Amino acid sequence: MDARSRSGYVGRFAPSPTGPLHAGSLVAALASQLDARAHRGRWLLRIEDLDPPREVAGAADAIIGTLAAFGFEHDGPIEFQSRRHAHYRQAFERLQAAGLVYPCACTRREIADSVVRQGLGRERHREMVYPGTCRHGIADGRAARAWRLRVGDAVIDWTDRSGRSFHERLADAVGDFVLLRSDGLWAYQLAVVVDDALQGVTDVVRGDDLIGSTSRQILLHRLLGSPTPRYLHLPVVTDARGEKLSKQTGAAALDMDRPLAALEAALAHLGLGNTAAQSLAGFWSEATGRWARARAIG
Ligand code: GLU
Repeated sequence: MDARSRSGYVGRFAPSPTGPLHAGSLVAALASQLDARAHRGRWLLRIEDLDPPREVAGAADAIIGTLAAFGFEHDGPIEFQSRRHAHYRQAFERLQAAGLVYPCACTRREIADSVVRQGLGRERHREMVYPGTCRHGIADGRAARAWRLRVGDAVIDWTDRSGRSFHERLADAVGDFVLLRSDGLWAYQLAVVVDDALQGVTDVVRGDDLIGSTSRQILLHRLLGSPTPRYLHLPVVTDARGEKLSKQTGAAALDMDRPLAALEAALAHLGLGNTAAQSLAGFWSEATGRWARARAIG
């Protein structure tokens, strides 16, 4: 066991290989790595290659290579979600056996139409609240397009390590949500929870863009009987138009020849200034100390 494995802390970085690492994803990677180092914990790397149509050939290798070149250190083998479908299936079957899953035949258009008809209205986190159309069975002659989780009247109260508290009734926020699509695609929400649980993740540190998913994930942890990790969500990096930098909107890949400049920019985004370090080792040591002091760790 190495010196960093002394505490029970387990963090992770879980990028989807839809493009190379960019200034925004670097912030999430840096924050989770600094939090793990400050806690003398373990830090896992998990490639979330669940959605082949959205993936870009070579992106996983590019992300892994950039992290290594920038001085990130992960513990244990890199996991790939594409090789873990059996785990998602097992969790799904447990939920199914508990009567918590049902098939749904609705198309996106049908959901949109009935949301408007019922005046349930609003879009949230770019998702519609599912109105429960198929909850009591699908109409004759229709085929299942997806399997959904019954959220019932679950209310999730949770507090982010940033200090923000949430009180979310899932039926109002998202409705019964998809776990599996009929084309065999596992939903991010299920896969991330199953993996965080099986890998013993205690701390999820990631961008604010995922904060709206957290109550769904907490519900799944509860239903599957796994301990809920702590969560820390951080402000995302935006472009000149105020939009979140993302691979989909064509954020530039990081300059592999200037790792320190990119790391310093990411650290500044986290409000921790500039270390003026001359080497990667110097950067990591100073940045970890700053993170630990800012968050009163250790
Ligand atoms: N794979 C997700 C993404 O790249 C992140 C998952 C997570 O951190 O929970 O957006």
